[in-house]
Amino acid sequence: MPDLHADLARTRADYEGFKARGLKLDMTRGKPSPEQLSLSDAMLLPQGNRDTTTAAGEDARNYGGALQGLPEVRALFGEALGLPADAIVLGNNSSLALMHDCIVWALLKGVPGGERPWSREASPAFICPVPGYDRHFGLAEEFGFRLLPVPLTGQGPDMDAVEALAADPSVKGMWCVPRYSNPTGETYSDDAVRRLAAMKAGAPDFRLFWDDAYAVHHLTDRRTPLASILDLTREAGHSDRAFCFGSTSKVTLAGAGVALFASSPANVAWFLARAGRRTIGSDKLNQLRHMRFLRDAEGLHAHMGRHRDLIGPKFDAVLAALERRLGGTGLARWSRPEGGYFISVDAVPGTASRVVALAKAAGVALTPAGATWPGGADPEDANLRLAPTFPKLAEVEAAAEGIAICIALAGLEKRGG
Ligand code: PLP
Repeated sequence: MPDLHADLARTRADYEGFKARGLKLDMTRGKPSPEQLSLSDAMLLPQGNRDTTTAAGEDARNYGGALQGLPEVRALFGEALGLPADAIVLGNNSSLALMHDCIVWALLKGVPGGERPWSREASPAFICPVPGYDRHFGLAEEFGFRLLPVPLTGQGPDMDAVEALAADPSVKGMWCVPRYSNPTGETYSDDAVRRLAAMKAGAPDFRLFWDDAYAVHHLTDRRTPLASILDLTREAGHSDRAFCFGSTSKVTLAGAGVALFASSPANVAWFLARAGRRTIGSDKLNQLRHMRFLRDAEGLHAHMGRHRDLIGPKFDAVLAALERRLGGTGLARWSRPEGGYFISVDAVPGTASRVVALAKAAGVALTPAGATWPGGADPEDANLRLAPTFPKLAEVEAAAEGIAICIALAGLEKRGG
C-alpha cells in the first residue's frame, strides 16, 4: 500500500513540525474561559441593603425562609429549564454535591418506594451510558456500585440494552445527561425519554439521575427541546423515578453558582427531610444575586447567547481542523454538538492512548484516554473528549490542528501494523 507509507511519512513530518512549535496548551476539562466568567462580573458588585430583601420581604442575610430555596429564583430556573417551581429545591454551589447527597441518603436511608436502604442490597448497580461524564462514574464507584456501560446512539442510550439491564432488581440507578450530553453532545430523543419513563424496572426504587447540566447551553439558534421526564414518568405511573439536577456553574460562575434538585412531591419531601438535618438553609444571598443579575428566563437565555458568542468560534475551529485533516480518511468520527461543552472523537480503535501520549509530547494536554468510561477504561481505546472552551481562540486553533495530526498519525501507524 504505497499511499499508506506516503501518508504516514507526511503525517509524521507534520507531527514533528507541530512538536517543534513548543506549545503548552490544556484541553483537558470543560471549564469556562476567563472571558466567559467576566460576563457575570456585575453579579459580584457589593449588595446594598435593598438588594438583600427577598420577594417575600425577608432579610436574606439571616437564617430562615424556605429550606427549598427562594420561590422567585425557583420560578426563574423553572421557566428556563421547563420545571415547575414547586418541584425544585435550590442547593448551594454544586449539582454534583446534590447527586452525592442523594446517593448517600439512598444508601443509608432508602428512597420512596424502596423496601430497604440501598446499602442493604447485595450488589447494587448503576447503568452508565458511554461515553459519559467521568465524575458521575467516579461518584458511583466511590460507594461500591457496579457500573454497567450501555452505548449511546446519537439520540440517547441504546434503549433495548437499558431495558434489559433495568429489569434486574439489583440495578438501582442510571446516569443520564439528557441534553447536549457530556461528551457526545447528543440530546435524548422523545422516544428514548418515553421509554426510560415507562420501562419496567426490576427494583421498585429505581432512579434516573437526570443531570440536565447543559439545559440552556446552546451553540446554535435552536434551543434543543427535551421531553419532560417528570411529566412522562408521572403519566407512566412511575412518578418517583427521576431525580433531576442542574446548576448555573456554566451560566454564571463555575463552582460559585446555584445548584438545583427537582423531582416528584414525594421525592422533594424526602430530599427536604434529609436536607433539613444537614443545613439550616442554602445561600440565599447567592440566589438573590442570580435573580438580580439574570432577572428572568429571557435574561438568562440572552446571557447564554453571550457565552455562545465567545465559545461558538472555538467549537467551529476544532470541527474545521478535524474536517481538514481527517475528513474522508476513515481515521476518526466525531460529534458536531449543537450545545454543551465538548466534542467527542472516536479514533481508530486501539489508538486513543497513543493520541493522548503524542499530544502530550507535543505540549497539548488532553483528557486521559478512557476517562469517559466506567473505571477509566475504554475497552476499545478509541474515545477522546475535547474541551475547547477554556483556552483562547488562537490556542484552540493551534491545539486542534495538532490533535488532528496526532489522531491521523496514530491511526496510520495502526493501519501500517
Ligand atoms: N454534570 C455534568 C454533566 C457536568 O459536565 C458537570 C461539570 O462539568 C457537572 C455536572 C458539575 O456541575 P456542578 O458545578 O453543578 O457540580
